[in-house]
Amino acid sequence: MKVIEMKNVHKYYGKSHVLDDVSFSVEKGHIVGLIGPNGAGKTTIMKILSGLAHRSSGSFSLFESETGIHKNRNRLSFMIESPIIDLSLNARNNMEYMRILRGVADEKKIDELLKYVGLEDVGKKPVKNFSLGMKQRLGIAMSLLADPEVLVLDEPVNGLDPEGIVEIRHILKELCEVYGKTLIISSHLLSELSELCTDYIIINHGRIVESLSTEELMLHSRSYISVKTDNISRTTATLEEKLGIRDFKMFEGSELRIYEKLDKLADVSNAVTSSGDTILQFVLKNESLEEYYLDKVDHNKGEVDKSRKNVLTRLSGRSDT
Ligand code: ADP
Repeated sequence: MKVIEMKNVHKYYGKSHVLDDVSFSVEKGHIVGLIGPNGAGKTTIMKILSGLAHRSSGSFSLFESETGIHKNRNRLSFMIESPIIDLSLNARNNMEYMRILRGVADEKKIDELLKYVGLEDVGKKPVKNFSLGMKQRLGIAMSLLADPEVLVLDEPVNGLDPEGIVEIRHILKELCEVYGKTLIISSHLLSELSELCTDYIIINHGRIVESLSTEELMLHSRSYISVKTDNISRTTATLEEKLGIRDFKMFEGSELRIYEKLDKLADVSNAVTSSGDTILQFVLKNESLEEYYLDKVDHNKGEVDKSRKNVLTRLSGRSDT
């Protein structure tokens, strides 16, 4: 069942086109990572889902219904930008406030949830003295009070230290695997959500660059031959000339990454040595998922830059050709 589906959504703030034809869906029981650099449009998508912002055009449905959006929003819980927490109150009082606000009758839930997120022993300490990780965990406990089927969390691990990230990741994974919740989580770093999500939606400049499952993402992380020599430009020229390599990238000016001829390692190394260059490194590697993501958003930036350049060229009446 699709718990969320957005179709061809556009959003303008004044003349600024911040969401451009956004379409995606979230299946029940999945953990979907909405990944993109700052300013990509992640919060805007979440605000539209929560009703904090309105789409300019397009449609969306919750639980496969476009008509019952208002009622169905009660089945979701949102933590957008930062948790709604009163910093002068302690954790328990914040939970009590939220319990009343959401009309939750069962008072026992407060202690159960504080225990669940590891905040049962924080006593009367006001939240302003909490670490960022504790605040985020309290925010998650508050989101869970009304027993939502879906949690929408905007950058829940942003700014946390690695230990804090692991703690939140563990809680979120359990919410999905043990309690059957559906989660949609945003982050500007793929690595923060790795080993957590079942699906990833990569967004950049308000456009969805790619939607893919974890398995597909793994397949996409490409293997390559990493070559370092004492004269990498001459090595590159030799390989282009002798083996006709085209699918390669220069990395940090000293490492040549070749994405083809992976089954012809001997041919590649022979071609390098035949140029007279000394091999400093010759190894088969796998591109990390973070590199794959950065490649996607950079590639997209290239397209946007190109289209901007075309517009400028048209406006100035000049042509490159
Ligand atoms: P992200 O969450 O991916 O960092 P946002 O959705 O917050 O991105 O922002 C997307 C774009 O929309 C940004 O360029 C941002 O400056 C712009 N934006 C966000 N909110 C507003 C607003 N209320 N008015 C005008 N522009 C906005």
